[in-house]
Amino acid sequence: MIATYPFSAVVGLDDLKLALVLNAVSPRVGGVLVRGEKGTAKSTIVRALAAQLPPVEAVTGCRFACDPAAPDPACPDGPHEPGEQRLRRPAALVELPVGASEDRLVGALDVERALTEGVKAFQPGLLAAAHRGVLYVDEVNLLHDHLVDLLLDAAALGTCYVERETVSVRHAARFLLVGTMNPEEGELRPQLLDRFGLTVEVRASRDPGERAEVVRRRLAFEAGPEEFAGRWAAEESALAGRIARARDRLRGVRLPDARLRQIATVCAAFEVDGLRADLVTASAAMAHAAWQGRQVVTTDDVRAAARLSLPHRRRRDPFDAPGLDEELLERLLEETSGPDDPDDPDGPNGPNGPDGPGDGGPVGGGPDGLGPGDGGSSGESAGLGSETSREDAGSRPQGVDGQAAGTAEAGPQAVDGPAGSRPAAPAGRPAGAAEPYRVPLLQVPGLGEGAAGRRSRARSAHGRVTGARRPRGRLHGLHLTATILAAAPHQRTRGRTGPGLLLRADDLREVVREGREGNLVLFVVDASGSMAARRRMTAVKTAVLSLLLDAYQRRDKVGLVTFRGAAAEVVLPPTSSVEAGAARLRSLPTGGRTPLAAGLAKAADVLRVERVRDPARRPLLVLVTDGRATAGGDVERAAGLLDGTASVVVDCESGPVRLGLAVRLAARLRARLLPLDALSDLGSAVRDYRKAV
Ligand SMILES: [Zn+2]
Repeated sequence: MIATYPFSAVVGLDDLKLALVLNAVSPRVGGVLVRGEKGTAKSTIVRALAAQLPPVEAVTGCRFACDPAAPDPACPDGPHEPGEQRLRRPAALVELPVGASEDRLVGALDVERALTEGVKAFQPGLLAAAHRGVLYVDEVNLLHDHLVDLLLDAAALGTCYVERETVSVRHAARFLLVGTMNPEEGELRPQLLDRFGLTVEVRASRDPGERAEVVRRRLAFEAGPEEFAGRWAAEESALAGRIARARDRLRGVRLPDARLRQIATVCAAFEVDGLRADLVTASAAMAHAAWQGRQVVTTDDVRAAARLSLPHRRRRDPFDAPGLDEELLERLLEETSGPDDPDDPDGPNGPNGPDGPGDGGPVGGGPDGLGPGDGGSSGESAGLGSETSREDAGSRPQGVDGQAAGTAEAGPQAVDGPAGSRPAAPAGRPAGAAEPYRVPLLQVPGLGEGAAGRRSRARSAHGRVTGARRPRGRLHGLHLTATILAAAPHQRTRGRTGPGLLLRADDLREVVREGREGNLVLFVVDASGSMAARRRMTAVKTAVLSLLLDAYQRRDKVGLVTFRGAAAEVVLPPTSSVEAGAARLRSLPTGGRTPLAAGLAKAADVLRVERVRDPARRPLLVLVTDGRATAGGDVERAAGLLDGTASVVVDCESGPVRLGLAVRLAARLRARLLPLDALSDLGSAVRDYRKAV
């Protein structure tokens, strides 16, 4: 296997190597998504593989890497004549930076030159550069949705389409797509997850033996780098040869009907949507057979393929980590393994027999356009509502049990009623959360410039056009009308006589767009005894959980500060992982005195750090409190630290006699005031939520 990675002890490394190899053998497998924590050196492993892909021959001077044997007929640098000069070079490894623009990815027409010099110049993007190589996207979960869509479309079609104001370009873009992500920084939308062929989980090994082996190699390397490198290089070149042989063999690999039915049974049992899972599993099983030197797909090949192709497809819920029930897989494979077909490679049907789908058969027919879950956002939203309730039912803590049936209809307040007759939860023991509900849209006022999302208004690259301006730097998105209007008054002085417009560079105007941004939603939650004693904590947790779900939909970052006892605590530092927020919230202990000022001061700290780290992302503070302060610090002074921060106070005070402390605090913070009950009333019950989104 891939030997280049001697310096890390990583669990899941074998799976990762296998997933990369299967993709290298068969482009139909559809890429790999590598999920794992930081420090697992995912990118080093990917680079190691790219270095071992068989080299490619390309037409000399073609910026689109045309194969001299079969040049792309639509190549913008073509047409290429047979016998044109060619060169042999390593397969490309192209990295797509997270902040890349659409133009950088798909290429762009140089509008400035086109308009002012009359030159039709197309500048190829990264998709062209990655053709016949590897396209590597580190932190693909942080990439703008729009770019992920373009990327996955190109990957599925093997073609890049560029449609611009005056030009449309199409060129071949077939590449091995490898994405990595750290799940702690936020999940991919489920329908995007589904479009990666395979997924692999990696994490740093805690096994002392493996760790020791890595140290041993490191020492050997330091003692004799050349000898060490030579030994590994030999293994690598053996791998490159094996990949090349497997590619050749793949053309003759047969997928017997029995194995195809086995794949269909497994996919159905794991409740995956659409047919993409079946297609990918079949392609991967065939690639695995070729890699293993087999001409006919066996149950072993199906097992290897299913383990990599299914974990992310059976996933429905943003709070539900991918994974596969290996026992169930084993049982299904056993039940369907049957007598392997009598079709050994030398049998009457042979490796290229009439029913063998081979490389160009229906099974490998490309994953594009299949499955009802493609595109759109309905899949994500529908899954969110329904599956959240399922998971909640499984993990509903004490204090809420027995009211599950009522909560969905009546909202979280219903939990308070019956549960109210029970003794208050002892301090420190987590209260539960009920079904989340839809919350009203809370926004940061004004116009931001933060990362794309679905919360506050912002200037953005993909929103609707709201105006035109002179370009700052390179021209992005020509505003034709504004450009013509800018040029029109000068036509006479420029000496125009005939038809057509005389344009100059400083006439050019670009579009200004407005869309929505994601924000940092920082929750500051009173978890003290005054809240727990009123048995409000369940309602509070439900409210915060609902707001967290909302933040997930709106692509916000979230953070959680709580205060109780003597101090405030950052329970969740700002992250894009709403899952982490929900988990921390569920296990949040409550009780003790109420250090409100400490909570506000801690929030101000968190926001100060985040302003440095992510300056474009505007914060929204959501303070969940009854306004009481029974410990430490001057609330007035602490509130001053938050001046200028867009805030919402969720007032948790209840009962017939109210002090109105939260009302006063909201006025001090110039915050929007939302009574806790109103928060849920403003939204709707879970059922409506599902219907609405
Ligand atoms: Zn070409």
